[in-house]
Amino acid sequence: MSKEIFLDAPCLGELEKKYLCDAVDSGFVSTIGPFVSEFEKKIANYLGVKSAVAVQSGTAAIHMALYELGIGPEDEVIVPALTFAATINPVLYVSATPVIVDIDINTWNIDPVKIKEAITNKTKAIIPVHLYGNPCNMAEIMDIAKEYNLYVVEDATESLGAKFNGKHTGVFGDFGCFSFNGNKVITTGGGGMLVSNNTGKIEHIRYLVNQSKDKDKPGFHSEMGFNYRMTNIEAALSLAQIERLGEFLDKKKRFNEIYKEELKDIGSIHFQEEYEETECCWWISCIIFEKDMDMLTLQKELKDKGIPTRRIFMPVNKMPYLNKYSITCSNACKIYDCGICLPCSTLNEEKDIKEVALTIKKVLNG
Ligand SMILES: *Cc1c(COP(=O)(O)O)cnc(C)c1O
Repeated sequence: MSKEIFLDAPCLGELEKKYLCDAVDSGFVSTIGPFVSEFEKKIANYLGVKSAVAVQSGTAAIHMALYELGIGPEDEVIVPALTFAATINPVLYVSATPVIVDIDINTWNIDPVKIKEAITNKTKAIIPVHLYGNPCNMAEIMDIAKEYNLYVVEDATESLGAKFNGKHTGVFGDFGCFSFNGNKVITTGGGGMLVSNNTGKIEHIRYLVNQSKDKDKPGFHSEMGFNYRMTNIEAALSLAQIERLGEFLDKKKRFNEIYKEELKDIGSIHFQEEYEETECCWWISCIIFEKDMDMLTLQKELKDKGIPTRRIFMPVNKMPYLNKYSITCSNACKIYDCGICLPCSTLNEEKDIKEVALTIKKVLNG
C-alpha cells in the first residue's frame, strides 16, 4: 500500500500550531486564560444550548453531571451494555448502582423498551450513549424520563455534530457530555465539556471543578471541590479544531458513504442503522458480519495489508468489576462478536477509504 492508513488519529496542522503558540506567547498555559471561555461559548452556540463548562475529560464531564444531580448510594442509573467503560465508571464514582440494559440490534444504541423494563423505585437517571456518533431515540427516551421523573445525562462524547429531529445530541437531557480526547471528532489533546440549558447548574459545576474556590473569601472553600478544569493550552487546540469541525464532519460522512457504496454487494456485511429522525456524525464507521467469523484473524489479515481496525467495544457486563451488575445482553454480545471499526481518521483521503473497502472485499473473497 502506497500511503499509511489511519484508524482514528487526529488531524492537526498549521492552525493548531498557531493557536498553541499564541497561548505560549500569552503566558496563559494553565487554567487561567481567555481561550477556555471562548471555546465554551463556541460549543454552546454551535449546539444551540444556553451554557457550557469545559473540563478535563469526557469522563470528568459525566462524573460532574451525576454529582451535580445529587445521585448517590441509594440510587440506580440505567446504562447501555455496549459502550466504553467511561460511561459507567462515573456511576461508581458517586457510589450509585449501574443498571445495565441491552441495546437495539439495529442501531446498537440503548433500547427504550428495555429501559422501561429496568426502571425500579430506585432509578434516578438514564445515561444514553450516542454510540459511534449515531443518535439514540431521544424522543422516546425523554418521554420515558418524563413519565418516571428521571434525569437524563447524554453521553455525547462520540457524537459532536450529530442530530436527532434537527437538534444536536447533548441538548435533550439535563446534561450533555462531550469528549475531546485524541481520537474523538475534535480534540484538545484531552478534554471534555458539559452543556445544559440549566445555567445555574452549569455555574455551580464551574465552581466545583475549580476546587470550589470562593470568589470573595481567598483561601476558603465552602464545599468539596474537584480539579477538573480545562487548561488554556488545551483550549488553544480546541479553537483551531472547532474551526475545522465542518471539514471533519463532511469527510466522515463521505467516508461512511464510500464504505456503504463499495461494500453494498457483500450481503453478509451490515452497517449500524440510523433512526429515521437522525443525522449521524459518523465518528467511526463500523460493520458487522452476518456469518460467524474469527475477528482476530480478520484483523490480522487486514493489518498485514496495512489496514488498521479495532474491535467494537466489549460489552461492559463482561468486565470483572462490573460482574455483579451483569445481565444477559445478547444483542451487545452479538455486535461485539461480529463487528469491527473501520479506519475513519480525517488524515485519510477518500481514495484511502476506497482502498480499505477494496481490501476488505479481497480478504473476504479469499
Ligand atoms: C471517549 C468516551 C468517554 C470518555 O471520554 P474521555 O474524554 O476519554 O474521558 C465516555 N464515553 C464514551 C462512550 C466514550 O467513547
